[in-house]
Amino acid sequence: MDVQIDDERFERTVEAYSEIGGTENGGLHRLALTDSDKEARDTFVNDLEALDLDVSVDEVGNIFGRRDGAEDLAPVFIGSHLDSQPYGGRFDGQLGVLTALETLRTFDDHDIMTDRPVVIVNWTNEEGARFAPALLGSSAFTGRASVEETLSTPDEYEGTVTLEEELERIGYDGDRPCTAGDIHSYLELHIECGPELEANGNSIGIADAIYASTWLEVTVRGQSKHAGPTPMEDRQDAFAATSEAVRDILSIPDRLDDESVVTVGEVHVSPNKRNIIPGEVTFSIDFRSGSDTVVTEAKNEVERALTASCRNHGTEYDIAEIMAKDRTDFSSIVTDAIEDATNSFDYPYQYIESVAGHDAMPMNDIAESAMILVPSVGGECHSENEFTRMDDCLAGANVFANTTYTLATKR
Ligand SMILES: [Zn+2]
Repeated sequence: MDVQIDDERFERTVEAYSEIGGTENGGLHRLALTDSDKEARDTFVNDLEALDLDVSVDEVGNIFGRRDGAEDLAPVFIGSHLDSQPYGGRFDGQLGVLTALETLRTFDDHDIMTDRPVVIVNWTNEEGARFAPALLGSSAFTGRASVEETLSTPDEYEGTVTLEEELERIGYDGDRPCTAGDIHSYLELHIECGPELEANGNSIGIADAIYASTWLEVTVRGQSKHAGPTPMEDRQDAFAATSEAVRDILSIPDRLDDESVVTVGEVHVSPNKRNIIPGEVTFSIDFRSGSDTVVTEAKNEVERALTASCRNHGTEYDIAEIMAKDRTDFSSIVTDAIEDATNSFDYPYQYIESVAGHDAMPMNDIAESAMILVPSVGGECHSENEFTRMDDCLAGANVFANTTYTLATKR
């Protein structure tokens, strides 16, 4: 059967949620567990209660709304995240949550009773922009991360509080134990955050895998001295060593695998004064590849680059890996269901590997999982320029609703 979502209601809902933490330039500034995230959460909980769902919040603030099935079977989970990047876009995460919401509203419109229960979820702190690393809520839920460590994660954006303190402050320190139990499958819709679907003229991307990735944090230590009298040959300039290493690190994809990507996005120079030689630099490396082996090789290349540059500049370095994710291969049970739904609407589609990480990665550890991606105009993401055409959002939502129905039907 094909169910059709309510286009106007869906558009209205996207507009309404985009007001919460909305920026002047049409983006979204709604970091995890801030006042605006609380407002979005409150709105979401109201919307779930209006559907008569059984609403619960777990220890790390993940929000669930359960719709009963005809039988007491393992449920289908659907959802994404309501938190955003700093001055990010209104589609990343939010579109997936609202698509799941529209799906349940559509089931109610048509008096659909599924065999399996369906649980809608909003994951806490997917972005990792305020509390690092990313995917905190879903990782705690699936056992990839400990609940205790998750709760003690510090706010890195501007405050000194922990995740637990912020959960308490906004009233989302729930009492549901943060454990998964038996889950049949997980479906998530997300914007592509890359240029491929648009370039190929496809409305739907069936994500059958997610790239492997690593986050490294590097500290280079030299010595702070006067920028005037200190001769060039007597310097242990931490920034000079860093810049030499970074040039090398940024060329790793060229050397190892041209489909891999590397980013040095955060650099802190100390003391960061124009007339003092930098004594210490910390910087981040984000590396992603379709192959686990390439990620391992890349880490060796990073070590090699830093060893060489620190030798040249008389400095020392440390590397900490603060996040590591293996390649994710999604379930064909879910991708087949997505493909069937896409075909029944005749939307143009392709299979695609997601370079961006998502909550579906940890969920894939415990349940049959896959994702529906919709096109990002110009590949823009994590910025206020992020945009997905409403026709593509609607196509994604229709495919989502029908895929959810298929997964929730016993066979
Ligand atoms: Zn996201």
